[in-house]
Amino acid sequence: MSEKIKGGISVDRENIFPIIKKWLYSEKDIFLREIVSNATDAITKLKRLQSLGEAKSEQGDFRIDVRLDRVAKTLSVEDNGIGMTGDELKKYICSIALSGAVDFINKYESTEDSAKGGIIGHFGLGFYSAFMVSERVEIETRSHTGAPAVHWVCSADGDYEIEAGERESIGTEVILHIDEDEAEYLNAARIRAMLDKYCAFMPVPIYFDDSEEKKEASAEAPINDVSPLWQRPASECTDDDYKAFYTKVFGDHREPLFQIHINADYPLNFRGILYFPRITNQYESIEGQVKLYYNQVFVADNIKEVIPDYLLMLKGVLDCPELPLNVSRSYLQTNSYVAKVSAHIVKKVADKLISLSKNERERYEAVWNDIKTFVEYAAIRDKKFRDRIKDHLLLHLTDGSYKTIDEYLENAKQTNENTIYYTTDKAAQAQYVALFEARGIAVCEFDSLLDTQFATAEEMAREGVKFLRVDADLGALTGEESEADKPLADLFCEVSGNEKLNVKQHALTDSDVPVIISVSEESRRMDDMMKMYRMTNGEEGAFSLPLDTTLILNSNAPLLGRLSALLNEDRARAKALAAHLYRLALLSHRKLNADEMSSFLSDSYRLLAELL
Ligand code: ADP
Repeated sequence: MSEKIKGGISVDRENIFPIIKKWLYSEKDIFLREIVSNATDAITKLKRLQSLGEAKSEQGDFRIDVRLDRVAKTLSVEDNGIGMTGDELKKYICSIALSGAVDFINKYESTEDSAKGGIIGHFGLGFYSAFMVSERVEIETRSHTGAPAVHWVCSADGDYEIEAGERESIGTEVILHIDEDEAEYLNAARIRAMLDKYCAFMPVPIYFDDSEEKKEASAEAPINDVSPLWQRPASECTDDDYKAFYTKVFGDHREPLFQIHINADYPLNFRGILYFPRITNQYESIEGQVKLYYNQVFVADNIKEVIPDYLLMLKGVLDCPELPLNVSRSYLQTNSYVAKVSAHIVKKVADKLISLSKNERERYEAVWNDIKTFVEYAAIRDKKFRDRIKDHLLLHLTDGSYKTIDEYLENAKQTNENTIYYTTDKAAQAQYVALFEARGIAVCEFDSLLDTQFATAEEMAREGVKFLRVDADLGALTGEESEADKPLADLFCEVSGNEKLNVKQHALTDSDVPVIISVSEESRRMDDMMKMYRMTNGEEGAFSLPLDTTLILNSNAPLLGRLSALLNEDRARAKALAAHLYRLALLSHRKLNADEMSSFLSDSYRLLAELL
């Protein structure tokens, strides 16, 4: 091309440059991804032509070089791909790419403010995203067809020039003259971090050079891994490969528990690896990270429209080359491909859990505490998932063993048909647990509110099955209850300060326990919910409901017989003893409040003094 061609951006295109420049502050970094992925595409295209015999194969190794020159204030991306002829450059860059960018911005600008952040990864702006950070952009390109080299330069006001270029080798170099206001993009560490984030798994080796001198080929290692683990067949990946990949991608040096390698071909066509992370302590919040890729190009983290929110508790990578990523999040929510991908992932996760449970039960039990939160939450959120794994939901018993719900119920047939007993605090509820264990009734341990919510969900899904906390149903221990001795019942009502206290009589196995408190399961769950509601609303003291509490007198306890006799002889003394017994029952049920504790202590001292 000998003569110089001058041109201007047409009217509706003219104002696109200032818009691009001011736009997308939070996502500016994506310009590098766009330019580098164009370079990758250019190499892929040339490779394809070569394999079809439509292009010569005289290129050396395919590579992309990203160079930073702080003196010249440029950042350039060079590839040895397909290149462009002058006509192609005009067509692709000055016409198609520009109108694509205009369309994208028009679509974006007409989107309501609140939904703007919703365009996933901001795919769609393409090559022109370079103008977010540049005052001028140059292209030096030479096509594989043998056409002469072309040079294009365009300033941030949209005026461009095309002239003959000087490039000798086939390929393209895009040179960004970084704007004064965007000096951060001349910082090598910043660029390296952006390459690590977006380009770490792109399929062509990328070299980064910030030495300010143009070298032929840098000897350094590429910044990326061109064949990430998820692209390999699972049969070729070892456990060590999976662990090393996990550490590299998530910077987490704890070993993951296990992983699921998904390799879905036709018709879904997506790949990925999902890891169950190790949780070192119970209070650690479980915050996963699922990275979404599009043909090995990083798009974004944790896109909840693509995978169900509970799966976001996992860590992993998903490469979905068929996702329509230049669309809004709300579009993804109703997209049938997305729904199928999501369903497939859920099925794979369930299959993995089932296979562990069936074939490696010991290992399954060993990791259960770590995966429990995930499994229970997922089971509550997604009925399909729950139905798949319903036979593999484990209960952790107080004796340290694990049973599936069915195994528990099968063992409990004789003693407590269809009822599962649990404790929410093994130490505080020790007296109750001991009463059940003495009868050969297994008790399972719940250690979070989620466990209780999970139990409620299971009750709804399993007809007739009930979960009861150990202090809720002491009837199971005796099978029968009788009216309590009236004067004794009145005495306990009096000392408890609660006229409406329910007093019942049971024949408990343990004759040492004279009185014990029981709270109805329903009323306690309601109270727990209210407490949670208060926690989230910050309203202290609101909505407190009186608990449906019963004081159980143990007809097998000799102490109570003596108390009954004493009541006729020395009422004052009997009352003091009853008050003390009531506090002891309270103490084994819950924490005493300040008043209860101080009167409990002073009564104890007085009683001890009387013994001397
Ligand atoms: P997209 O990549 O989505 O097509 P872009 O705006 O990023 O949109 O690029 C527009 C077009 O410009 C590309 O489709 C390609 O034809 C051409 N192009 C951009 N960069 C290069 C490059 N490095 N080598 C060859 N062609 C390129």
